[in-house]
Amino acid sequence: MTDGINIRAAVLFAPDQALRVVDVALAPPGPGEVRVRLAASGICASDWHTMTGAIPSPTPSVLGHEGAGVVEAIGEGVTSVKPGGHVVLSWVPSCGRCRYCESGRPNLCSVAAPALLAGTLVSGARRLSYEGEALYHYSFLSTFAEAVVVDEASCIPIRDDVPLSVAALVGCAVMTGFGAVVNRARLEPGATAVVFGAGGVGLSAVMAARLSGARHVVAVDPLASKRELALEVGASHAADPSGGGVRALVADLTAGDGADVVIESAGRTELVAEAFEVARRGGTIVCVGIPAADATVVLPGPALVRHEKIVTGSLYGSCRARTDMPRVLDLYADGRLPLDRLVTRTYELDEINSGFEDMVAGKLARGVVTLTGS
Ligand SMILES: [Zn+2]
Ligand SMILES: [Zn+2]
Repeated sequence: MTDGINIRAAVLFAPDQALRVVDVALAPPGPGEVRVRLAASGICASDWHTMTGAIPSPTPSVLGHEGAGVVEAIGEGVTSVKPGGHVVLSWVPSCGRCRYCESGRPNLCSVAAPALLAGTLVSGARRLSYEGEALYHYSFLSTFAEAVVVDEASCIPIRDDVPLSVAALVGCAVMTGFGAVVNRARLEPGATAVVFGAGGVGLSAVMAARLSGARHVVAVDPLASKRELALEVGASHAADPSGGGVRALVADLTAGDGADVVIESAGRTELVAEAFEVARRGGTIVCVGIPAADATVVLPGPALVRHEKIVTGSLYGSCRARTDMPRVLDLYADGRLPLDRLVTRTYELDEINSGFEDMVAGKLARGVVTLTGS
């Protein structure tokens, strides 16, 4: 029987507060659970939206949902990983048995997906506590911590020769952006793609579009530094969203037709209408940025019918995590997806609040918290 351990973790005690890094007790993994010593955790806008209250999740909780590390201990009945193995953590621990899992859409698992923000593991258990009080988990993971106890289904085994700081990003941003292009839009070679937002998700979409053989990849972002990075990792063009230049540029590139694929990664619903506008007739608009809980989308009614454009969401890049995450890391290892370019800077766990400040100030493609595991 494995003992519990004490770890340092960043706790959100209540919305609208900074995170506090404190000593937390981590109970041993129960049946079907795994303890992972984390090496890295990406800083994602979804955590921030929970900190501000825009995406509510119960508190006090340990935030973080984009992590990778090394398996340290396994609970009863765990068979798919063993201590020493490298894993990316998936925030949809899919059950493998429901209609969605059965039909190849495990990201929509009817067991895991609806409970994403419930603040527990799949069983309802909580393994974290602070001064004797149980803490909530976040997105089944809680990766702003030196170690986690997660469901076996959250552990995606990966090759052990890629940096875990890069692997961590595959646990959210990379899979979301890459999968939106490859799995959801199914972009064809020669297509024109437009990507709104050039943060970690948008840049991953840019890389995926380039890798998939897009002829033109237009990255749209208000920040010059992000537009520059987008051009370095695969965009053929970059545009500032202000002033109507995007529409003119896309029209110019496509002989007036519009883009085949448009990705909205910023989570701003007003951009969906613009994304709709720059898509060609029959084109596909994929929304991946999660907006505030009460946000709505307004689209032009006549064009919705007449132009047969497909407007769809994509959760977690519509991924089959066990297939897609190792595959993405193979492409990185082969030099075909420059995922390391997403890591703008790293932070110690104690610096996590400045990481969020930098993210909100637009300074980061991705900030990564470096943790103790390796
Ligand atoms: Zn995320
Ligand atoms: Zn399922």
